Amino acid sequence: MGFVVALIQGDGIGPEVVSKSKTILARLNEKFSLPIEYIEVEAGDTTKNKFGDALPKDSLRVIEKADMILKGPVGETAADVVVKLRLMYDLYANLRPAKSLPGLENKFGDVDILVVRENTEDLYKGLEHVISDGVTVGIKVITRAASTRIAQVALNQALRRKKKVVCVHKSNVMRITDGLFAESCRNVLKGKVEYSEMYVDAAAANLVRNPQAFDVIVTENTYGDILSDEAGQIAGSLGISPSANIGDRKSLFEPVHGAAFDIAGKNIANPTAFLLSVGMMLDRMQELSGDIRYNNAAKSLRDAIYSVYSEGKYLTPDVGGSSTTDEMISAIRSKIG
Ligand code: ATP
Ligand code: MG
Repeated sequence: MGFVVALIQGDGIGPEVVSKSKTILARLNEKFSLPIEYIEVEAGDTTKNKFGDALPKDSLRVIEKADMILKGPVGETAADVVVKLRLMYDLYANLRPAKSLPGLENKFGDVDILVVRENTEDLYKGLEHVISDGVTVGIKVITRAASTRIAQVALNQALRRKKKVVCVHKSNVMRITDGLFAESCRNVLKGKVEYSEMYVDAAAANLVRNPQAFDVIVTENTYGDILSDEAGQIAGSLGISPSANIGDRKSLFEPVHGAAFDIAGKNIANPTAFLLSVGMMLDRMQELSGDIRYNNAAKSLRDAIYSVYSEGKYLTPDVGGSSTTDEMISAIRSKIG
């Protein structure tokens, strides 16, 4: 089973990271005989300046036909691009792994956590109203369907990991909404994995106190937004974190970091978050196709990245090295063989 990928370079450090990483994409296709076709599409700030639209019709036409979207960071128009695609294609699961990299000093020790965040409802639905001057309300939406669907994603992920899931909520205060979320997770997960529940305040504290106790965290949109940043930082740095937005028809993969205009064009941007996002895309392709080649390619890519970190010779300045983006990408490329 082959896949078509719409490739968006993005803004700031996006174009250099993505274009330089193409040698790795090409090598993975070649070495593992992957039937992946990449088609470049324009989106983001530069695109908006050129065409008046951050996500023009021509781009949407290609994206509509593609199976996956792989994107670099987008600047000011990030929300226009990702939020629009998230709604259009119902990208309901946001996966944010927080895994420490070998060789990087980390006061929290070795961390390997996956936050599975519901991506479509909760307070982030944006249902806010002004009742009267100085009085506002925001509506929290939680449905059984969306909660069950995200619990299912957490189950699939956990079965490939340590088979341990914590459902994070606050049902002691929000009995109805968070109560429904917790009940839905319980129904899907209990008995199938080592399952527990934690209130979100306790989870925030426990993440710092003992991050090694966590494997998969499944949670609502708002809590997930906050806890995934916390977990990412505990693992080392937000700047090296990848992410996936999974839907049934399409999925989108992108680095967590932004466009970083301050270092754009200097050939010092760290390509790790983007390349680890490519790894997550290959995982999804494996899941959908059952084809082991995607798995092998993902493993080869991750091993190459980890090995460059272990050796510590070709790292960009943000992670304590003095190499350029080109040098780091070449080092990873040669590890793939
Ligand atoms: P945006 O406005 O799109 O969020 P930003 O400039 O705030 O972009 P962030 O991703 O929030 O960028 O990153 C904050 C800082 O971290 C950047 O200014 C940059 O110095 C550093 N940084 C982020 N990503 C990288 C990267 N891939 N490599 C090196 N440094 C990075
Ligand atoms: Mg930022």
